[in-house]
Amino acid sequence: MNGNLFVVVAPSGAGKTSLVSKLLEGDHNIKLSVSFTTRAPREGEEPGRDYHFVSRATFEAMIAAGDFLEHAEVYGNYYGTSRKWIEAELAGDHDVLLEIDYQGAQQVRGLFPTMVGIFILPPSFAELRRRLEGRGKDSAEAVEKRMASARQEISHVLEFEYIIVNERFEAALTDLVSVVRAARVSRAQQRLRLPKLLSEFR
Ligand code: 5GP
Repeated sequence: MNGNLFVVVAPSGAGKTSLVSKLLEGDHNIKLSVSFTTRAPREGEEPGRDYHFVSRATFEAMIAAGDFLEHAEVYGNYYGTSRKWIEAELAGDHDVLLEIDYQGAQQVRGLFPTMVGIFILPPSFAELRRRLEGRGKDSAEAVEKRMASARQEISHVLEFEYIIVNERFEAALTDLVSVVRAARVSRAQQRLRLPKLLSEFR
């Protein structure tokens, strides 16, 4: 594995998807894994771009066939990362990014201990609630459910190497870009990328 494996986790409402898409817009060396899910597409979502949308039966058959690197149930739906895709991408030289939940991150950590875990935090619970309510997408009951899941997700924050607080979008994006750049010049990565140069100075 020559590339970095970035795993980005956040409670919903922390701004993870917007941060990751801005990061990828400016950095074409990172490939985003498109997950499989059993949830229905939301308005504006495109199959194959946002998710591979499949039925529960198909998903369960894929679990049985060992097609997933990791999978988890979140908000009553299945989500999973394709094993084949990741293995092919990591064999190449580019970086790969997974946008998954903490349960998936724990499973990936078991398989790839060198993964770079990044947690995106909202500035406070009160602000998270304001953002979830402000989206106007969810009923009061759904907001409460998301808040409870957010608490659970955030209780795992210290399992991640990097913690980025998304108070101001631009500042959080700069932090995220900096983490990616730092990982690329880490000793472990440079040993893989620059064996010739490093051996010259031995
Ligand atoms: P949403 O339905 O809002 O797109 O995603 C709900 C949650 O599922 C988010 O926390 C998201 O990161 C997580 N998720 C998306 N894809 C995957 C995946 O492939 N594996 C796991 N474990 N979680 C995922």
